[in-house]
Amino acid sequence: MRNKTVLISGASIAGPALAYWLDRYGFNVTVVEKAPGLRPGGQAVDFKGRTHRTVLERMGVWEEIQRRRTGRFDTVYLDANGRELAVMTGEFTGGDVEILRGDVAAILYERTSGGCDYRFGDSITALAETADGVRAEFEHAAPQTFNLVVGADGIHSRVRRLAFGPERDYVRHLGYYYCVAGAPGFGHDARRPERLTARAWNAPGRMAARGGSKGSHLYLFASAELDCARGDVAAQRLLITELFAGMGGEVPSMLVELDHLGDFYLDAIAQVQMKGRYTSGRVALVGDAGYGNTLGGFGTGLAVVGAYVLAGELAVADGDHEAAYARYDEIMRRYAKIAGNSNAGRFMAPKTAWGIRGRNWLLGSRAFGLMMKYGDKAANDIDLADYPTMAEVGPEQS
Ligand SMILES: Cc1cc2nc3c(=O)[nH]c(=O)nc-3n(C[C@H](O)[C@H](O)[C@H](O)COP(=O)(O)OP(=O)(O)OC[C@H]3O[C@@H](n4cnc5c(N)ncnc54)[C@H](O)[C@@H]3O)c2cc1C
Repeated sequence: MRNKTVLISGASIAGPALAYWLDRYGFNVTVVEKAPGLRPGGQAVDFKGRTHRTVLERMGVWEEIQRRRTGRFDTVYLDANGRELAVMTGEFTGGDVEILRGDVAAILYERTSGGCDYRFGDSITALAETADGVRAEFEHAAPQTFNLVVGADGIHSRVRRLAFGPERDYVRHLGYYYCVAGAPGFGHDARRPERLTARAWNAPGRMAARGGSKGSHLYLFASAELDCARGDVAAQRLLITELFAGMGGEVPSMLVELDHLGDFYLDAIAQVQMKGRYTSGRVALVGDAGYGNTLGGFGTGLAVVGAYVLAGELAVADGDHEAAYARYDEIMRRYAKIAGNSNAGRFMAPKTAWGIRGRNWLLGSRAFGLMMKYGDKAANDIDLADYPTMAEVGPEQS
């Protein structure tokens, strides 16, 4: 086989999923992750439809994912007096199965750590392509040459920056920011005891939600790009407090609580736009690095399917990256379209009072059922090739 050594950057979902398949196909896999260890918890993510399920079954992890599922949350939109205005069902936001991102990462890591070399607390700093490989430099480890490099390092991918160019050329700000704080809160509402419920309040261009599967607080707001968006947490906390001051319902008490909540994270709602090319020379992108859309849904399913396709094409092409990458680009160009079609900010925090009323009406209408059907169709819009399964490749090596 050609190109046996593969370096993957990122150990969340896409990285370990790719490592899983490549390991079984006989590649030598190294995964470098900038965090000091596997990052636990995080927001809930979801899988939807038969395509995601088929890949997870072929990986032998579907049952485990079912066991660790969180349950789906309905989001109930309330007015300032606590009156129910609309309900966004958990089936829409949570797919067929919802599970913490960190739990998916842990399930995939458990199945790959024996066969792959995981290096935590390090990061690629430079990539230089040679005739038969890519020389990678690291923050800590000595430089090393690998046959192939894959960026699975999320929406702000460094591999994408090194191999394709600056983030501004590939990441489009969708006009909204989100902020999560605290661990996902798993609560019931007295009025809907049979369902898990998150409570949400809107003002034009803003939404605050308490007690859902993304974090114990979730804030969304419309904004052009912000200076304090990267890194300055104190400025970000102040911004949320100022922006949401004056909103009704439970928002004032949320803002008091926010001061004491950890796991605070604020980022733009953004979409990665690679213009249909997820590969360059010997480098490929998988998951959010190549086709992410924050909160746009399907990100985790796309990451798992993308990893399956990339590894499968490399195996079928006997390691010939030019042939495999061309097929991967072609297949994902179509399937990843799903990530290019939505802006969750616009739906969850419409910019006008009319927009909010229209969204609430839509949630209760038959048109919403059609929207859900469209989502189901898009999640399955791929002819999943029958790459060699685990049984054909041989027993698990880890
Ligand atoms: C608030 C929120 C809610 C979401 N809700 C959903 C949902 O309901 N459903 C859904 O399907 N998806 C959801 N997503 C998206 C989902 O989390 C991602 O699509 C999914 O995690 C993709 O995984 P990934 O492995 O490609 O990227 P990520 O999960 O972003 O992982 C990237 C990894 O790379 C590492 N890394 C980053 N930079 C470097 C570097 N320089 N060197 C080494 N390592 C690096 C990071 O530490 C991380 O471990 C949500 C995302 C957010 C932010």
